[in-house]
Amino acid sequence: MIQLYIPLNFLGVLYREIKQSLTDLDKMFVLMDREREVADTPGAQPLALQGAPSVVFDHVSFAYEANRPILKDISFEIPAGKTVAVVGPSGSGKSTLARLMFRFYDVQQGAIRMAGQDIRAVTQASVRRALGIVPQDTVLFNDTVAYNIAYGRPGASQAEIEEAARAARIHDFIASTPQGYQTSVGERGLKLSGGEKQRVAIARTLLKDPPILVFDEATSALDSANERAIQAELASVAQNKTTLVIAHRLSTVVDAHEILVMEAGQILERGTHAQLLASQGRYAQMWALQQSGETS
Ligand code: ATP
Repeated sequence: MIQLYIPLNFLGVLYREIKQSLTDLDKMFVLMDREREVADTPGAQPLALQGAPSVVFDHVSFAYEANRPILKDISFEIPAGKTVAVVGPSGSGKSTLARLMFRFYDVQQGAIRMAGQDIRAVTQASVRRALGIVPQDTVLFNDTVAYNIAYGRPGASQAEIEEAARAARIHDFIASTPQGYQTSVGERGLKLSGGEKQRVAIARTLLKDPPILVFDEATSALDSANERAIQAELASVAQNKTTLVIAHRLSTVVDAHEILVMEAGQILERGTHAQLLASQGRYAQMWALQQSGETS
């Protein structure tokens, strides 16, 4: 009886997964720019972690296509449990840093190390398990809100899902809909605003509880109350996690351990918010511009 039940249940899950994968997962992988797999080295072991690890980019150079370098000799460290923020113009290579951390591609020169281990030497699956991303534009599956949140940790209980939703401040909104957590979302269901979608992504990440976090800040403008609320929620998610923030608004980066100002694949300036303001360079100009934009 048990023997029969498990395969049937498994087939049901598999069917659902395949059905999903034909539509939503494809879209997600395209969005995440996952074009080709990198292979594990024979005998690769899982990444060994005890709590949040340090993440090091050690003289990393990378190109998607030969003769078009995208990252040029990038070195920085996110100490264990700290936040490093990256700012810079569109196309300067910020998202590429995140893609390399996920090992969607291998670096061509230098190395990326997590807790001292070169990520090319460990299994890709273990690297991805250790990372959580709150992306710019969260892809929701055509399924229930509960499924979308639990995607962060398959098998999570309803109580765990609700706890994550509460922490991401989306519970009250979900509870106010007629079908609650069973409400369908996505293309064929309830349409969520940008801020609500990001909250679902935050809840998903809270459930996954990864030691390393990448937050790709939305470029699309949220209203400022919503933006401040999301920032506060993210700050609490990022506590004690090793975090890379790809920031479009400088207000997000003020408290970062280090801010990297990128331009054309290189680090133009680096330092804390106070140091960068004092050096009166590109960051200080960007800050002055954003401040005048916010007050005008
Ligand atoms: P934005 O702020 O607009 O998101 P970004 O700083 O994150 O920009 P990246 O997405 O890292 O920039 O892109 C850096 C450069 O790499 C761009 O010139 C882009 O065209 C190029 N690029 C990105 N993905 C690929 C790819 N899959 N194949 C080839 N070139 C790519």
